[in-house]
Amino acid sequence: MPIYKAPLEDVRFVLDEIVGAGKLAELPGYEDATPDLIAQVLEEGAKLCEEVLFPLNQSGDAEGCTFENGVVRTPKGFKEAYNTYIEAGWQGLSCDPAYGGQGLPKLVNTMLEEFICSANLSFGMYPGLSLGAYNALHTYGSDPLKQRFLGRLVDGTWAGTMCLTEPHCGTDLGMIRTKAVPREDGSYAITGTKIFISAGEHDLTENILHLVLARLPDAPAGTRGISLFLVPKFLPNEDGTVGPRNGVACGSIEHKMGIKASSTCVMNFEEATGWLVGEPHKGMRAMFVMMNAARLAVGIQGLGVAEVSYQNAVAYAKERLQGRSLKGAQHPDKPADPIIVHPDVRRNLLTARAFTEGARALGALVGYQLDVAERHADERTRKEADEFVQLMTPIVKALFTDIGFDAANIAVQVHGGHGFIWETGVEQYVRDARICQIYEGTNGIQALDLVGRKMPQDMGRLLRRFFHPVAADIEADMETEELAEFVLPLAKAFAKLQQATAVIAQKGLKDPEEAGAAASDYLRLFGFVALGWMWLRMVKAARMRLAAGEGNATFLEAKVKTARFYMAKLLPQTNALFITIMAGAKPVMELDEPAF
Ligand SMILES: Cc1cc2nc3c(=O)[nH]c(=O)nc-3n(C[C@H](O)[C@H](O)[C@H](O)COP(=O)(O)OP(=O)(O)OC[C@H]3O[C@@H](n4cnc5c(N)ncnc54)[C@H](O)[C@@H]3O)c2cc1C
Repeated sequence: MPIYKAPLEDVRFVLDEIVGAGKLAELPGYEDATPDLIAQVLEEGAKLCEEVLFPLNQSGDAEGCTFENGVVRTPKGFKEAYNTYIEAGWQGLSCDPAYGGQGLPKLVNTMLEEFICSANLSFGMYPGLSLGAYNALHTYGSDPLKQRFLGRLVDGTWAGTMCLTEPHCGTDLGMIRTKAVPREDGSYAITGTKIFISAGEHDLTENILHLVLARLPDAPAGTRGISLFLVPKFLPNEDGTVGPRNGVACGSIEHKMGIKASSTCVMNFEEATGWLVGEPHKGMRAMFVMMNAARLAVGIQGLGVAEVSYQNAVAYAKERLQGRSLKGAQHPDKPADPIIVHPDVRRNLLTARAFTEGARALGALVGYQLDVAERHADERTRKEADEFVQLMTPIVKALFTDIGFDAANIAVQVHGGHGFIWETGVEQYVRDARICQIYEGTNGIQALDLVGRKMPQDMGRLLRRFFHPVAADIEADMETEELAEFVLPLAKAFAKLQQATAVIAQKGLKDPEEAGAAASDYLRLFGFVALGWMWLRMVKAARMRLAAGEGNATFLEAKVKTARFYMAKLLPQTNALFITIMAGAKPVMELDEPAF
């Protein structure tokens, strides 16, 4: 049976040391978000995830969703778990109090999302999509739309979706065909087919609000001609109760590799009534609000899977007895030593651990900057924080989901043949994690976003939001002898990142295929340096606490040793990435299409 315990101690460490204890409460409107309150909230959230959501993860995978006569049923226990979730107010944790939310920082929600995704990734899709719909509507919806719908998304009695993909277009949304025809009453008739719609239909809520990308009759071609519409499953009555059925229905659900308890639906819109969200033809802008938040959230899904995979791999490695330590028997009283004595098993475990803890720290920093971007009193600070988040979004999405998949794969490997068996529980993590690398823009598209949009933006201004603080931290510790084993590898990798950036920028200007061919390796190089930066900060904090005799010494010493592993065994992969980036586009592009 798989296990899961929310990593509360590590979360607290990251909040104190990477974000800064009490920093959230300094932001206007978040005065109540003190470290103690956040700790209490997360402890309660941890209980929910461990005791309610996690026990449904394997059964949800076995049962999956079912589809009959247009009705989708989630697996046994999901509805009750969802009710527990919304009745305790978790859906509105970081939502606007004006619509019934609790107004806590987004970072607190991000931390909770990690626990949810560890416990039950499929379950997390439902509230996650609703929160995405809330964000888009809150930012771009008209007041009447907000008044009518936001409260129901916040209390979770109604759910949300995001309807972009069509049979002929996923990445290239400029080809969307779904039509929106204006009606005299100010609403629109929406007609078209959307596929792969997560939570498109289910039995958890009394209504579902679809946010749909469609084209107006006079729309210009491409992404500049796309508008965003709100299309409810049931049209609401004046008093806010559920009214008649709208012209939208689920045609079928997909049978998938993973996240089987999350419904993935074909949605048919037949002159369904919808309302415009934001301005005509500016739907992509509004949808980007949803997509950017969703990209960060998908990154956190990767982190969640990585954590639970690691925990299960460790538990098994301590218990499974095979072979003897290369140093001689460590447990002579037993028939064999636990496999955790073997260097290769330790390498696997530490790889998963170092990536996971590094990602948690980076995720927290980005989550905090998201709150700063929204709430800080100073406009310039807000802008700089927003630029940092923009830059890091594709990295969090792609790197963390790669980490999630790799950690799940490691967990299977550590379990040996038992890992390949369904009952053990870890092969599900591989299957579940795989989609995170694909949806919300594939990881290849994230890399293109980084080199094509974020890198050149405003002559590299976004890049400076990362490069400057990293350079400052390296410089500050360059002469500190005790930190040399951490600072020097980071300094070298950082220099490679700077050099690669300059080369890609220069070559990419002349030939975009040069940038395209380097993009994925560049994103990974960037991500490794970003995690190295986090490890430097964490190791410094851990050493300071140890020197002061504060905190849990076992936890802090493990931080130092994991940092050492990251710097010595993982960060050097940046050398290989640098070499492949420098090899340029020719090895990728020279083989003619017919020769494939
Ligand atoms: C389980 C699941 C849930 C989903 N949930 C939703 C949802 O809720 N709402 C929704 O709207 N969609 C959803 N999707 C759709 C998902 O976002 C798309 O599948 C994804 O964006 C990729 O689009 P595609 O499948 O059409 O692949 P394609 O766009 O056809 O891409 C195929 C391959 O080509 C690459 N590629 C494409 N264009 C380029 C390019 N310009 N440069 C480089 N490489 C390129 C891609 O990286 C990919 O590897 C879901 C999909 C699944 C499987």
